[in-house]
Amino acid sequence: MNIAAGASVGALQAALPLAPLENRILLCHALGLTRVGLITQSERLLTEAEAHVLARLVARRLAGEPIAYIVGKREFFGLDFCVSDAVLIPRPDTELLVELALEKLAPGARVLDLGTGSGAIAVALAHTRPDADVSALDVSAAALDVARANAAAHGAKVRFLRSDWYGAVQGERFDLIVSNPPYIAAGDVHLLQGDLRFEPVGALTDHADGLTALRAIVGGAGAHLVPGSWLLLEHGYDQAAQVRDLLRAAGYVDVQSWRDLGGIERVSGARLPA
Ligand code: GLN
Repeated sequence: MNIAAGASVGALQAALPLAPLENRILLCHALGLTRVGLITQSERLLTEAEAHVLARLVARRLAGEPIAYIVGKREFFGLDFCVSDAVLIPRPDTELLVELALEKLAPGARVLDLGTGSGAIAVALAHTRPDADVSALDVSAAALDVARANAAAHGAKVRFLRSDWYGAVQGERFDLIVSNPPYIAAGDVHLLQGDLRFEPVGALTDHADGLTALRAIVGGAGAHLVPGSWLLLEHGYDQAAQVRDLLRAAGYVDVQSWRDLGGIERVSGARLPA
């Protein structure tokens, strides 16, 4: 399909060389239209400038760049999150972690999100539960800039700290700790496929067996949780048993895993003994 001035929105929607959802997203982005606008303005003809912009966006997508980075945003937990290549693209799987965290949150609870990236988890929690006292850490200053912008955009009150795991919260205890850390093992073929090729490698893999960050988080959580409170961890599709073993070995109780919408054990967690 030649993306040229004079082509109609409706014709382009049918003819762009991408999946229908991706066509729609890029057309909306290029033309500044909503999804409804795309339907009501299907007769509209592209200007020279619009055709140029759209052709560039489609070329980037065809080169493999994730849609979320091209348009600079991704929806998560019903909220639009700004994303750049400094942060992992929020995944629907991670909404399970947010839902579980919300179930566990007592009024006014102190929550810590380790490796917050775009801030998706922390901002979703603080937005849904303005009473919660949410702190979020990341080792990447560039990621924290994105996370702060997301918190501001949603009016979510989150304390952001630059920190390598628990470094910046020495002496503090929380009523809930959550994390979606880098958990893909070095050499996993998924790192060479799809969106992951463009995402920050340090947010995806520990460059080892995939459990380094999970071990560090479990190992340090005891000193930062109020006795009796929960640690909830997202992990890889084949790591649930290993994460439960880590939690048991560290003396946690109520050790369990929860399945994501795909039926995969995606989050494991446990409570520090009271
Ligand atoms: N869930 C991501 C994926 O497998 C990985 C995220 C992570 O390592 N925390 O695509």
